[in-house]
Amino acid sequence: MTFHLEIVTPDGVSFDGQAESLYVRTQQGDIGILPNHIDYLAALGMGQARVTVDGQTRTAACIGGMVSVSAGEVKLVATTFEWAEDIDVPRAKAAEARARRVIEEKKLTEEELRLAEARLKRALVRQSVGRR
Ligand code: ATP
Repeated sequence: MTFHLEIVTPDGVSFDGQAESLYVRTQQGDIGILPNHIDYLAALGMGQARVTVDGQTRTAACIGGMVSVSAGEVKLVATTFEWAEDIDVPRAKAAEARARRVIEEKKLTEEELRLAEARLKRALVRQSVGRR
């Protein structure tokens, strides 16, 4: 049994096809979606996503956006969705170090701090997913 899954980001379509399962982190916690799931809508948190296609499970860094199920069709619209094999771990480490340096600065506006914290979280999620 499979369901139609579409994963889109501002950069384009990351996946469009039949899947057996999707596990993602929402703001309420981790959820799993299998075929014939009831209609559903949730805001995405940040963490690892797992997609199983033809018995093979792929992982990705998945941050922000929403996941919906409508009449058995699943759509994931994420601000960040990067397959583990596409993640450049050294780049994420450099982004982490930059974000930590910014956060230590004394005279940051709230907005600058919020952006640096979001960048730090992205960098940490990318490293945890990219290394597996
Ligand atoms: P950086 O400072 O390294 O650009 P960032 O968190 O500011 O990190 P984003 O604005 O989230 O980067 O992403 C910009 C683009 O670069 C997106 O297309 C994103 O998928 C890609 N990207 C960012 N970091 C990585 C990474 N470590 N590996 C692969 N792609 C990445």
